[in-house]
Amino acid sequence: MRIAILLTLLATTLTAAAAEPAADSLILLRPARVFDGTSMHAGWRVLVKGDRIVAAGSDITATGARVIELPDTTLVPGLIEGHSHLFLHPYNETSWDDQVLHESIALRTVRAVTAARATLMAGFTTVRDLGTEGAGFADVGLKQAIDEGIVPGPRMLVATRAIVATGAYGPKGFEPGVEVPQGAEEASGEDVVRAVRRQIAAGADVVKLYADYRWRPGEDRRPTMSEAELRAATAAAHDAGRSVAAHATTEEGMRRSIAAGVDTIEHGYGGTKEIFRAMKDRGVVLCPTLAAVDAVARYQGWDGGEPTPAVVELSRASFRAARAANVVICAGGDVGVFAHGENVRELELMQDAGMPAREVLMAVTSSNARAFRIDDRVGAIRAGLLADLVAVTGDPSLEIRALRQVRMVMKNGRVVGE
Ligand SMILES: [Zn+2]
Repeated sequence: MRIAILLTLLATTLTAAAAEPAADSLILLRPARVFDGTSMHAGWRVLVKGDRIVAAGSDITATGARVIELPDTTLVPGLIEGHSHLFLHPYNETSWDDQVLHESIALRTVRAVTAARATLMAGFTTVRDLGTEGAGFADVGLKQAIDEGIVPGPRMLVATRAIVATGAYGPKGFEPGVEVPQGAEEASGEDVVRAVRRQIAAGADVVKLYADYRWRPGEDRRPTMSEAELRAATAAAHDAGRSVAAHATTEEGMRRSIAAGVDTIEHGYGGTKEIFRAMKDRGVVLCPTLAAVDAVARYQGWDGGEPTPAVVELSRASFRAARAANVVICAGGDVGVFAHGENVRELELMQDAGMPAREVLMAVTSSNARAFRIDDRVGAIRAGLLADLVAVTGDPSLEIRALRQVRMVMKNGRVVGE
């Protein structure tokens, strides 16, 4: 018994060593400017010791530190993707139905490994991954593999299978009664709470609930879970210290989600002035996923010009209405619907829809960290936080597209891409 424990400890130490730099290694970063999560500072330097930021400011020196010169760059906190699906790949490659029905979990996991690497190299050092869409609990294993340094990737908050009302999700269109693989775990009534607890026990950091959906293809979206189901599920998640993300695109689905006390609403295209006011009052964050709508419209033949498809207009209008109501905006594109590593697409669309670049930059760093309750570890450049840092050419607080020009990515104090 004692030997087994010792071996486990040894194994943990060895794998941790592979993922983290020596505790006393010193690195001094010298970019042109530093965005600390809130403000821009010209001439700042950042000192990293081991896996942490130990100092940030203009008059920092450190004897014996390895100096990394980053001229003409802006150093920003590691970017935080608010809504990803590492286990999906773009629908113009393979439809969602075919991914869920015909791709094995092994194949999907290998794809997810490459998706995780692409995400990290794009400067996204953290993702909130909102459901494997039929790939079971494979996200928990991927997260562990990344944490142990087996494969490169962002730190992950995972939702595992996600939860849908019985019969509400897909794939659909089969003989009634025949068991068909589903994109999420089905539950109704008290079963919803059981599903929440099962998923948390299996490793869920965040619980994803579907408040509405199309009951049948071609129909309008309608509520799926009752308000009582949403309330019970949310309470069970909160008891366990997990936050709740609600997929909701209809006014009624959003209303029920807000009443149930969820933490974030995903998509929210059907939000009205009253709904967004309620979100503001209750502190519910909106993840507008503009890039998913944009991508799907393009897959259906839109060339990006006029006339703009109604669904794209609707997503932009709800985003503007939410901002007008001062709702906290999460930066999260539903990446996976479009290519991993293209995460900046959502940020560009946010700026195009009227959000100043500096606010977009805050959304994807400090604001996302606060919304996901990880701001005690990441999301800012400040002594004591983990050294997740990205250097990009140019100034993304003026033009968010600058985030595409990645010069260096550091995660946990270790340079992972240059
Ligand atoms: Zn999604």
